[in-house]
Amino acid sequence: MSERVIPLVDQRLRVLPAVLPPQPIAPNGLLSDRLSRPLHDLRISVTDKCNFRCNYCMPKEVFNKDYAYLPHSDLLSFEEITRLARVFVAHGVQKIRLTGGEPLLRKNLEILVSQLAQLRTPQGQPLDLTLTTNGSLLARKAQLLKEAGLQRVTVSLDGLDDAVFRQMNDVDFPVADVLAGIEAAKAAGLGLDAQGRWSGLKVNMVVKRSTNVDQILPMARHFRGSGITLRFIEYMDVGATNGWCMDEVLPSAEVVKRIQQEFPLVALEANATGETAQRWGYADAHGKFDPKLGEIGVISSVTQAFCRDCNRARLSTEGKLYLCLFASQGWDLRELMRNKQASDADLASAIAHIWQGRDDRYSELRALLPAEQQASLGRRVEMSYIGG
Ligand code: SAM
Ligand code: SF4
Ligand code: SF4
Repeated sequence: MSERVIPLVDQRLRVLPAVLPPQPIAPNGLLSDRLSRPLHDLRISVTDKCNFRCNYCMPKEVFNKDYAYLPHSDLLSFEEITRLARVFVAHGVQKIRLTGGEPLLRKNLEILVSQLAQLRTPQGQPLDLTLTTNGSLLARKAQLLKEAGLQRVTVSLDGLDDAVFRQMNDVDFPVADVLAGIEAAKAAGLGLDAQGRWSGLKVNMVVKRSTNVDQILPMARHFRGSGITLRFIEYMDVGATNGWCMDEVLPSAEVVKRIQQEFPLVALEANATGETAQRWGYADAHGKFDPKLGEIGVISSVTQAFCRDCNRARLSTEGKLYLCLFASQGWDLRELMRNKQASDADLASAIAHIWQGRDDRYSELRALLPAEQQASLGRRVEMSYIGG
């Protein structure tokens, strides 16, 4: 068996100053990058800490008691996050996802949610405001978050078998508590839109070939017909610490094939441009999609790159802007805000300038490489630092 080598490089140190362009760029809601991709979606990481040690994300060997997390003074305050979010929204962002680390570990997160819930798009619409969580604290927090204005949540759960799940989260956390969190979210009305229509909750399952492939069908059976969309994520080579190799990736096409052996599926249209998941609906006895049975999603970031429509920006816990999940550098917006006393107009210009220079398409480029070179493509920032 080959030994796993974990490079201990602090990816957070690669910072670029956010500079003001020669001419101010006023927001008009229509920003686009060098590949004509709009800025639509902002993921905000609110903490780099987590109470799980999922081996594909924060392996224990690296994220141990000696790991240097960011000091609290380095984190963006809620006011700073909301200020930046307002500028992003003026540039066209319509959807904000809070993430981490584990976002529910950030104290008083509901206060941030209530601030973000008040933002409006240039057309006067509220944002699509959501959060990704491991679900461990959701039973306690769901009601508060809903009251603060959170609309939806995505809960990560990698299996229903307790032994498998405990092995994946690596802190002995039981499945039952995550399921209780999902129930609490449903009971609190997370997943109901402003008009009271059910837009659904999502559950994300990362599939690792050696660990939880046998959980695919039990998970599908459990969530079919529940109003919850189960999404299977290909294990990705994010960060520099998870010891990724292609052999561990179960292609999404395989996932669909396995489920189809028990439940017929029909391909569904994407809900929106840039949507990360391909949708498959459960079919009725006539082979037609049955909305009562619901749907699954597959996120094929390894085997089927979807960079062409990628409209997502990521704001790290301490205020760096990343243009790609696999980026190796971020632009320091906090410095501009805190030390350079930038006005909102300055922030808008700097953000526009950065987005207009964007040509990231990591997954597409990786797919062009021969398999043996795919694991060594550049250094990347950790998922727990900029969120999923
Ligand atoms: N802690 C929260 C959670 O687990 O939902 C939010 C942050 S987590 C980084 C966001 C998402 O990234 C989760 O759904 C997680 O399963 C996914 N993720 C983390 N590492 C991954 C990897 N190597 N490949 C694919 N997905 C990954
Ligand atoms: Fe924590 Fe989420 Fe990463 Fe798991 S995937 S270690 S829950 S941040
Ligand atoms: Fe977007 Fe980067 Fe993922 Fe491509 S690899 S879809 S550019 S985040």
